[in-house]
Amino acid sequence: MLDETGFRPHGKHLIAGEWVATGQTFRSSPAHGAAHDFSVGTVDLVDRACRAAEAAFAAYGWTTRAARAAFLEAIADEIDARGDAITAIGTSETGLPEARLVGERGRTTGQLRLFARHILEGGYLDRRHDPALPDRQPLPRPDIRLMERPIGPVAVFGASNFPLAFSVAGGDTASALAAGCPVVVKGHSAHPGTGEIIAEAIHAAIGRCGMPAGVFSLVQGGRRDVGQALVQHELIKAVGFTGSLVAGRILFDLCAARPEPIPFFGELGSVNPMFLLPEAVTARAEAIGRGWAESLSMGAGQFCTNPGIAVVIEGEGAGTFASAAISALREVTPQIMLTDGIADAYREGAGRIAAGAGVRDLITSVCDGREAKPFLFRVAAADWLGNHDLREEVFGPLGLIVTVRDTEEMLAVAKSFPGQLTATMHMDADDAAFARRLLPVLERKAGRVLANGFPTGVEVCDAMVHGGPYPASTNFGATSVGTMSIRRFLRPVSYQNIPQDVLPDDLV
Ligand code: NAP
Repeated sequence: MLDETGFRPHGKHLIAGEWVATGQTFRSSPAHGAAHDFSVGTVDLVDRACRAAEAAFAAYGWTTRAARAAFLEAIADEIDARGDAITAIGTSETGLPEARLVGERGRTTGQLRLFARHILEGGYLDRRHDPALPDRQPLPRPDIRLMERPIGPVAVFGASNFPLAFSVAGGDTASALAAGCPVVVKGHSAHPGTGEIIAEAIHAAIGRCGMPAGVFSLVQGGRRDVGQALVQHELIKAVGFTGSLVAGRILFDLCAARPEPIPFFGELGSVNPMFLLPEAVTARAEAIGRGWAESLSMGAGQFCTNPGIAVVIEGEGAGTFASAAISALREVTPQIMLTDGIADAYREGAGRIAAGAGVRDLITSVCDGREAKPFLFRVAAADWLGNHDLREEVFGPLGLIVTVRDTEEMLAVAKSFPGQLTATMHMDADDAAFARRLLPVLERKAGRVLANGFPTGVEVCDAMVHGGPYPASTNFGATSVGTMSIRRFLRPVSYQNIPQDVLPDDLV
């Protein structure tokens, strides 16, 4: 049914092909437009969804790659068919602008289609074969084949800041379904209506492709025990999560404490430091400052790759860089944050940074309600190095300039960062000698190292790593963006002397 957003959610959970309501409801809290009631998730629904997922795996885990590719394409088509309604409910719930929702939808369907092509190519199976050597001395060698196989039902937690590309049919779901794993999504309470319409699209694609109903379920949130029961469910074999360090750590620890511990692929906090090398500062401090301000304030700073910290050698160039960032940030108009909780956390984070010893305010703001305005601070490395609070992510348009005495102190600052999604060097040709010293430090800290750019904007491609050492992610061998993310939901199996007519089709 349609309302002013183009879509009126019915508020139910999708459990293995059935739309189900429980007695209790929670009301959505949209940035604008009408609020709607949603059925609260329960531990019982989680159990039903997981059992259905396990039952579906018996068939889905052995579907052909062509059948799964067609299913992923069908999901993308069904999302496109609901495009305007998705944009309308998505902008209402999140406050993100229409153009952003349209772009993110393209990324979401593009991701699904990319995984369809990726599995058809088949390289991800990593097939290996050591043929039998019956005459080998002193012992014969058996015939051994290896192939990556899907692990079973996967739990996915949608992210508040990407209601499409990192949510119900986002990268985690697309890569798990591509691998051959059924998915149980715990919907994010910040965009339950957007989650519902995407679940409708997946439901329609399941019907069109004749997939087992339990291959996908959506349990809406509203209660903390729902997510906790999901990661602890004995039939769940891995978890994909994007969100806060606090929630991620709770769920990660629950996964590790299970009788059968399972991998928790969490993408948590990152401040994405930028290092301004001396020659680049001499040549273009102002342009880097303006570019940084734009990157920092894009989407109200609600990107996991937001570059929150800039490290620069003190002096005239640092002054030019800071002045350019100040002028550009002063022109940024107030933006609406995704949730009241995120807006509260932003204000608290700004207060925490402002209270740090030696921290100077360059821009302070008063933010009302769900509004975000930029903050900018400056601190000397000596004070920053002694205060761990200053290196924690503040989710929003807040920047901190850390000034260092020289390149040696810049290296010391770089070494002191915890794990990051990204690290950036702004450098000119004459900075190459120092860059060669900095790069080995940064590649131990970050999943992606950039030169002369800004990290916001993650390309969905084969060579992308969106992950990094803890706390950027809970598993530094993994990425949550790009085709390599499928590996999270696969497990290598060796088949020794298994007759040809018994082997999985992909191995024959
Ligand atoms: P969040 O609070 O971590 O929530 C993420 C998911 O975890 C939601 O489904 C939430 O359920 C669930 N959850 C939260 N606490 C839980 C608990 N104790 N036990 C079980 N499940 C729990 O993240 P958020 O609401 O999206 O944003 C809050 C903060 O997260 C932001 O201020 C920002 O610092 C950070 N964040 C980081 C990234 C990133 O990319 N690194 C992205 C988004 C947010 P409900 O839906 O029911 O609340």
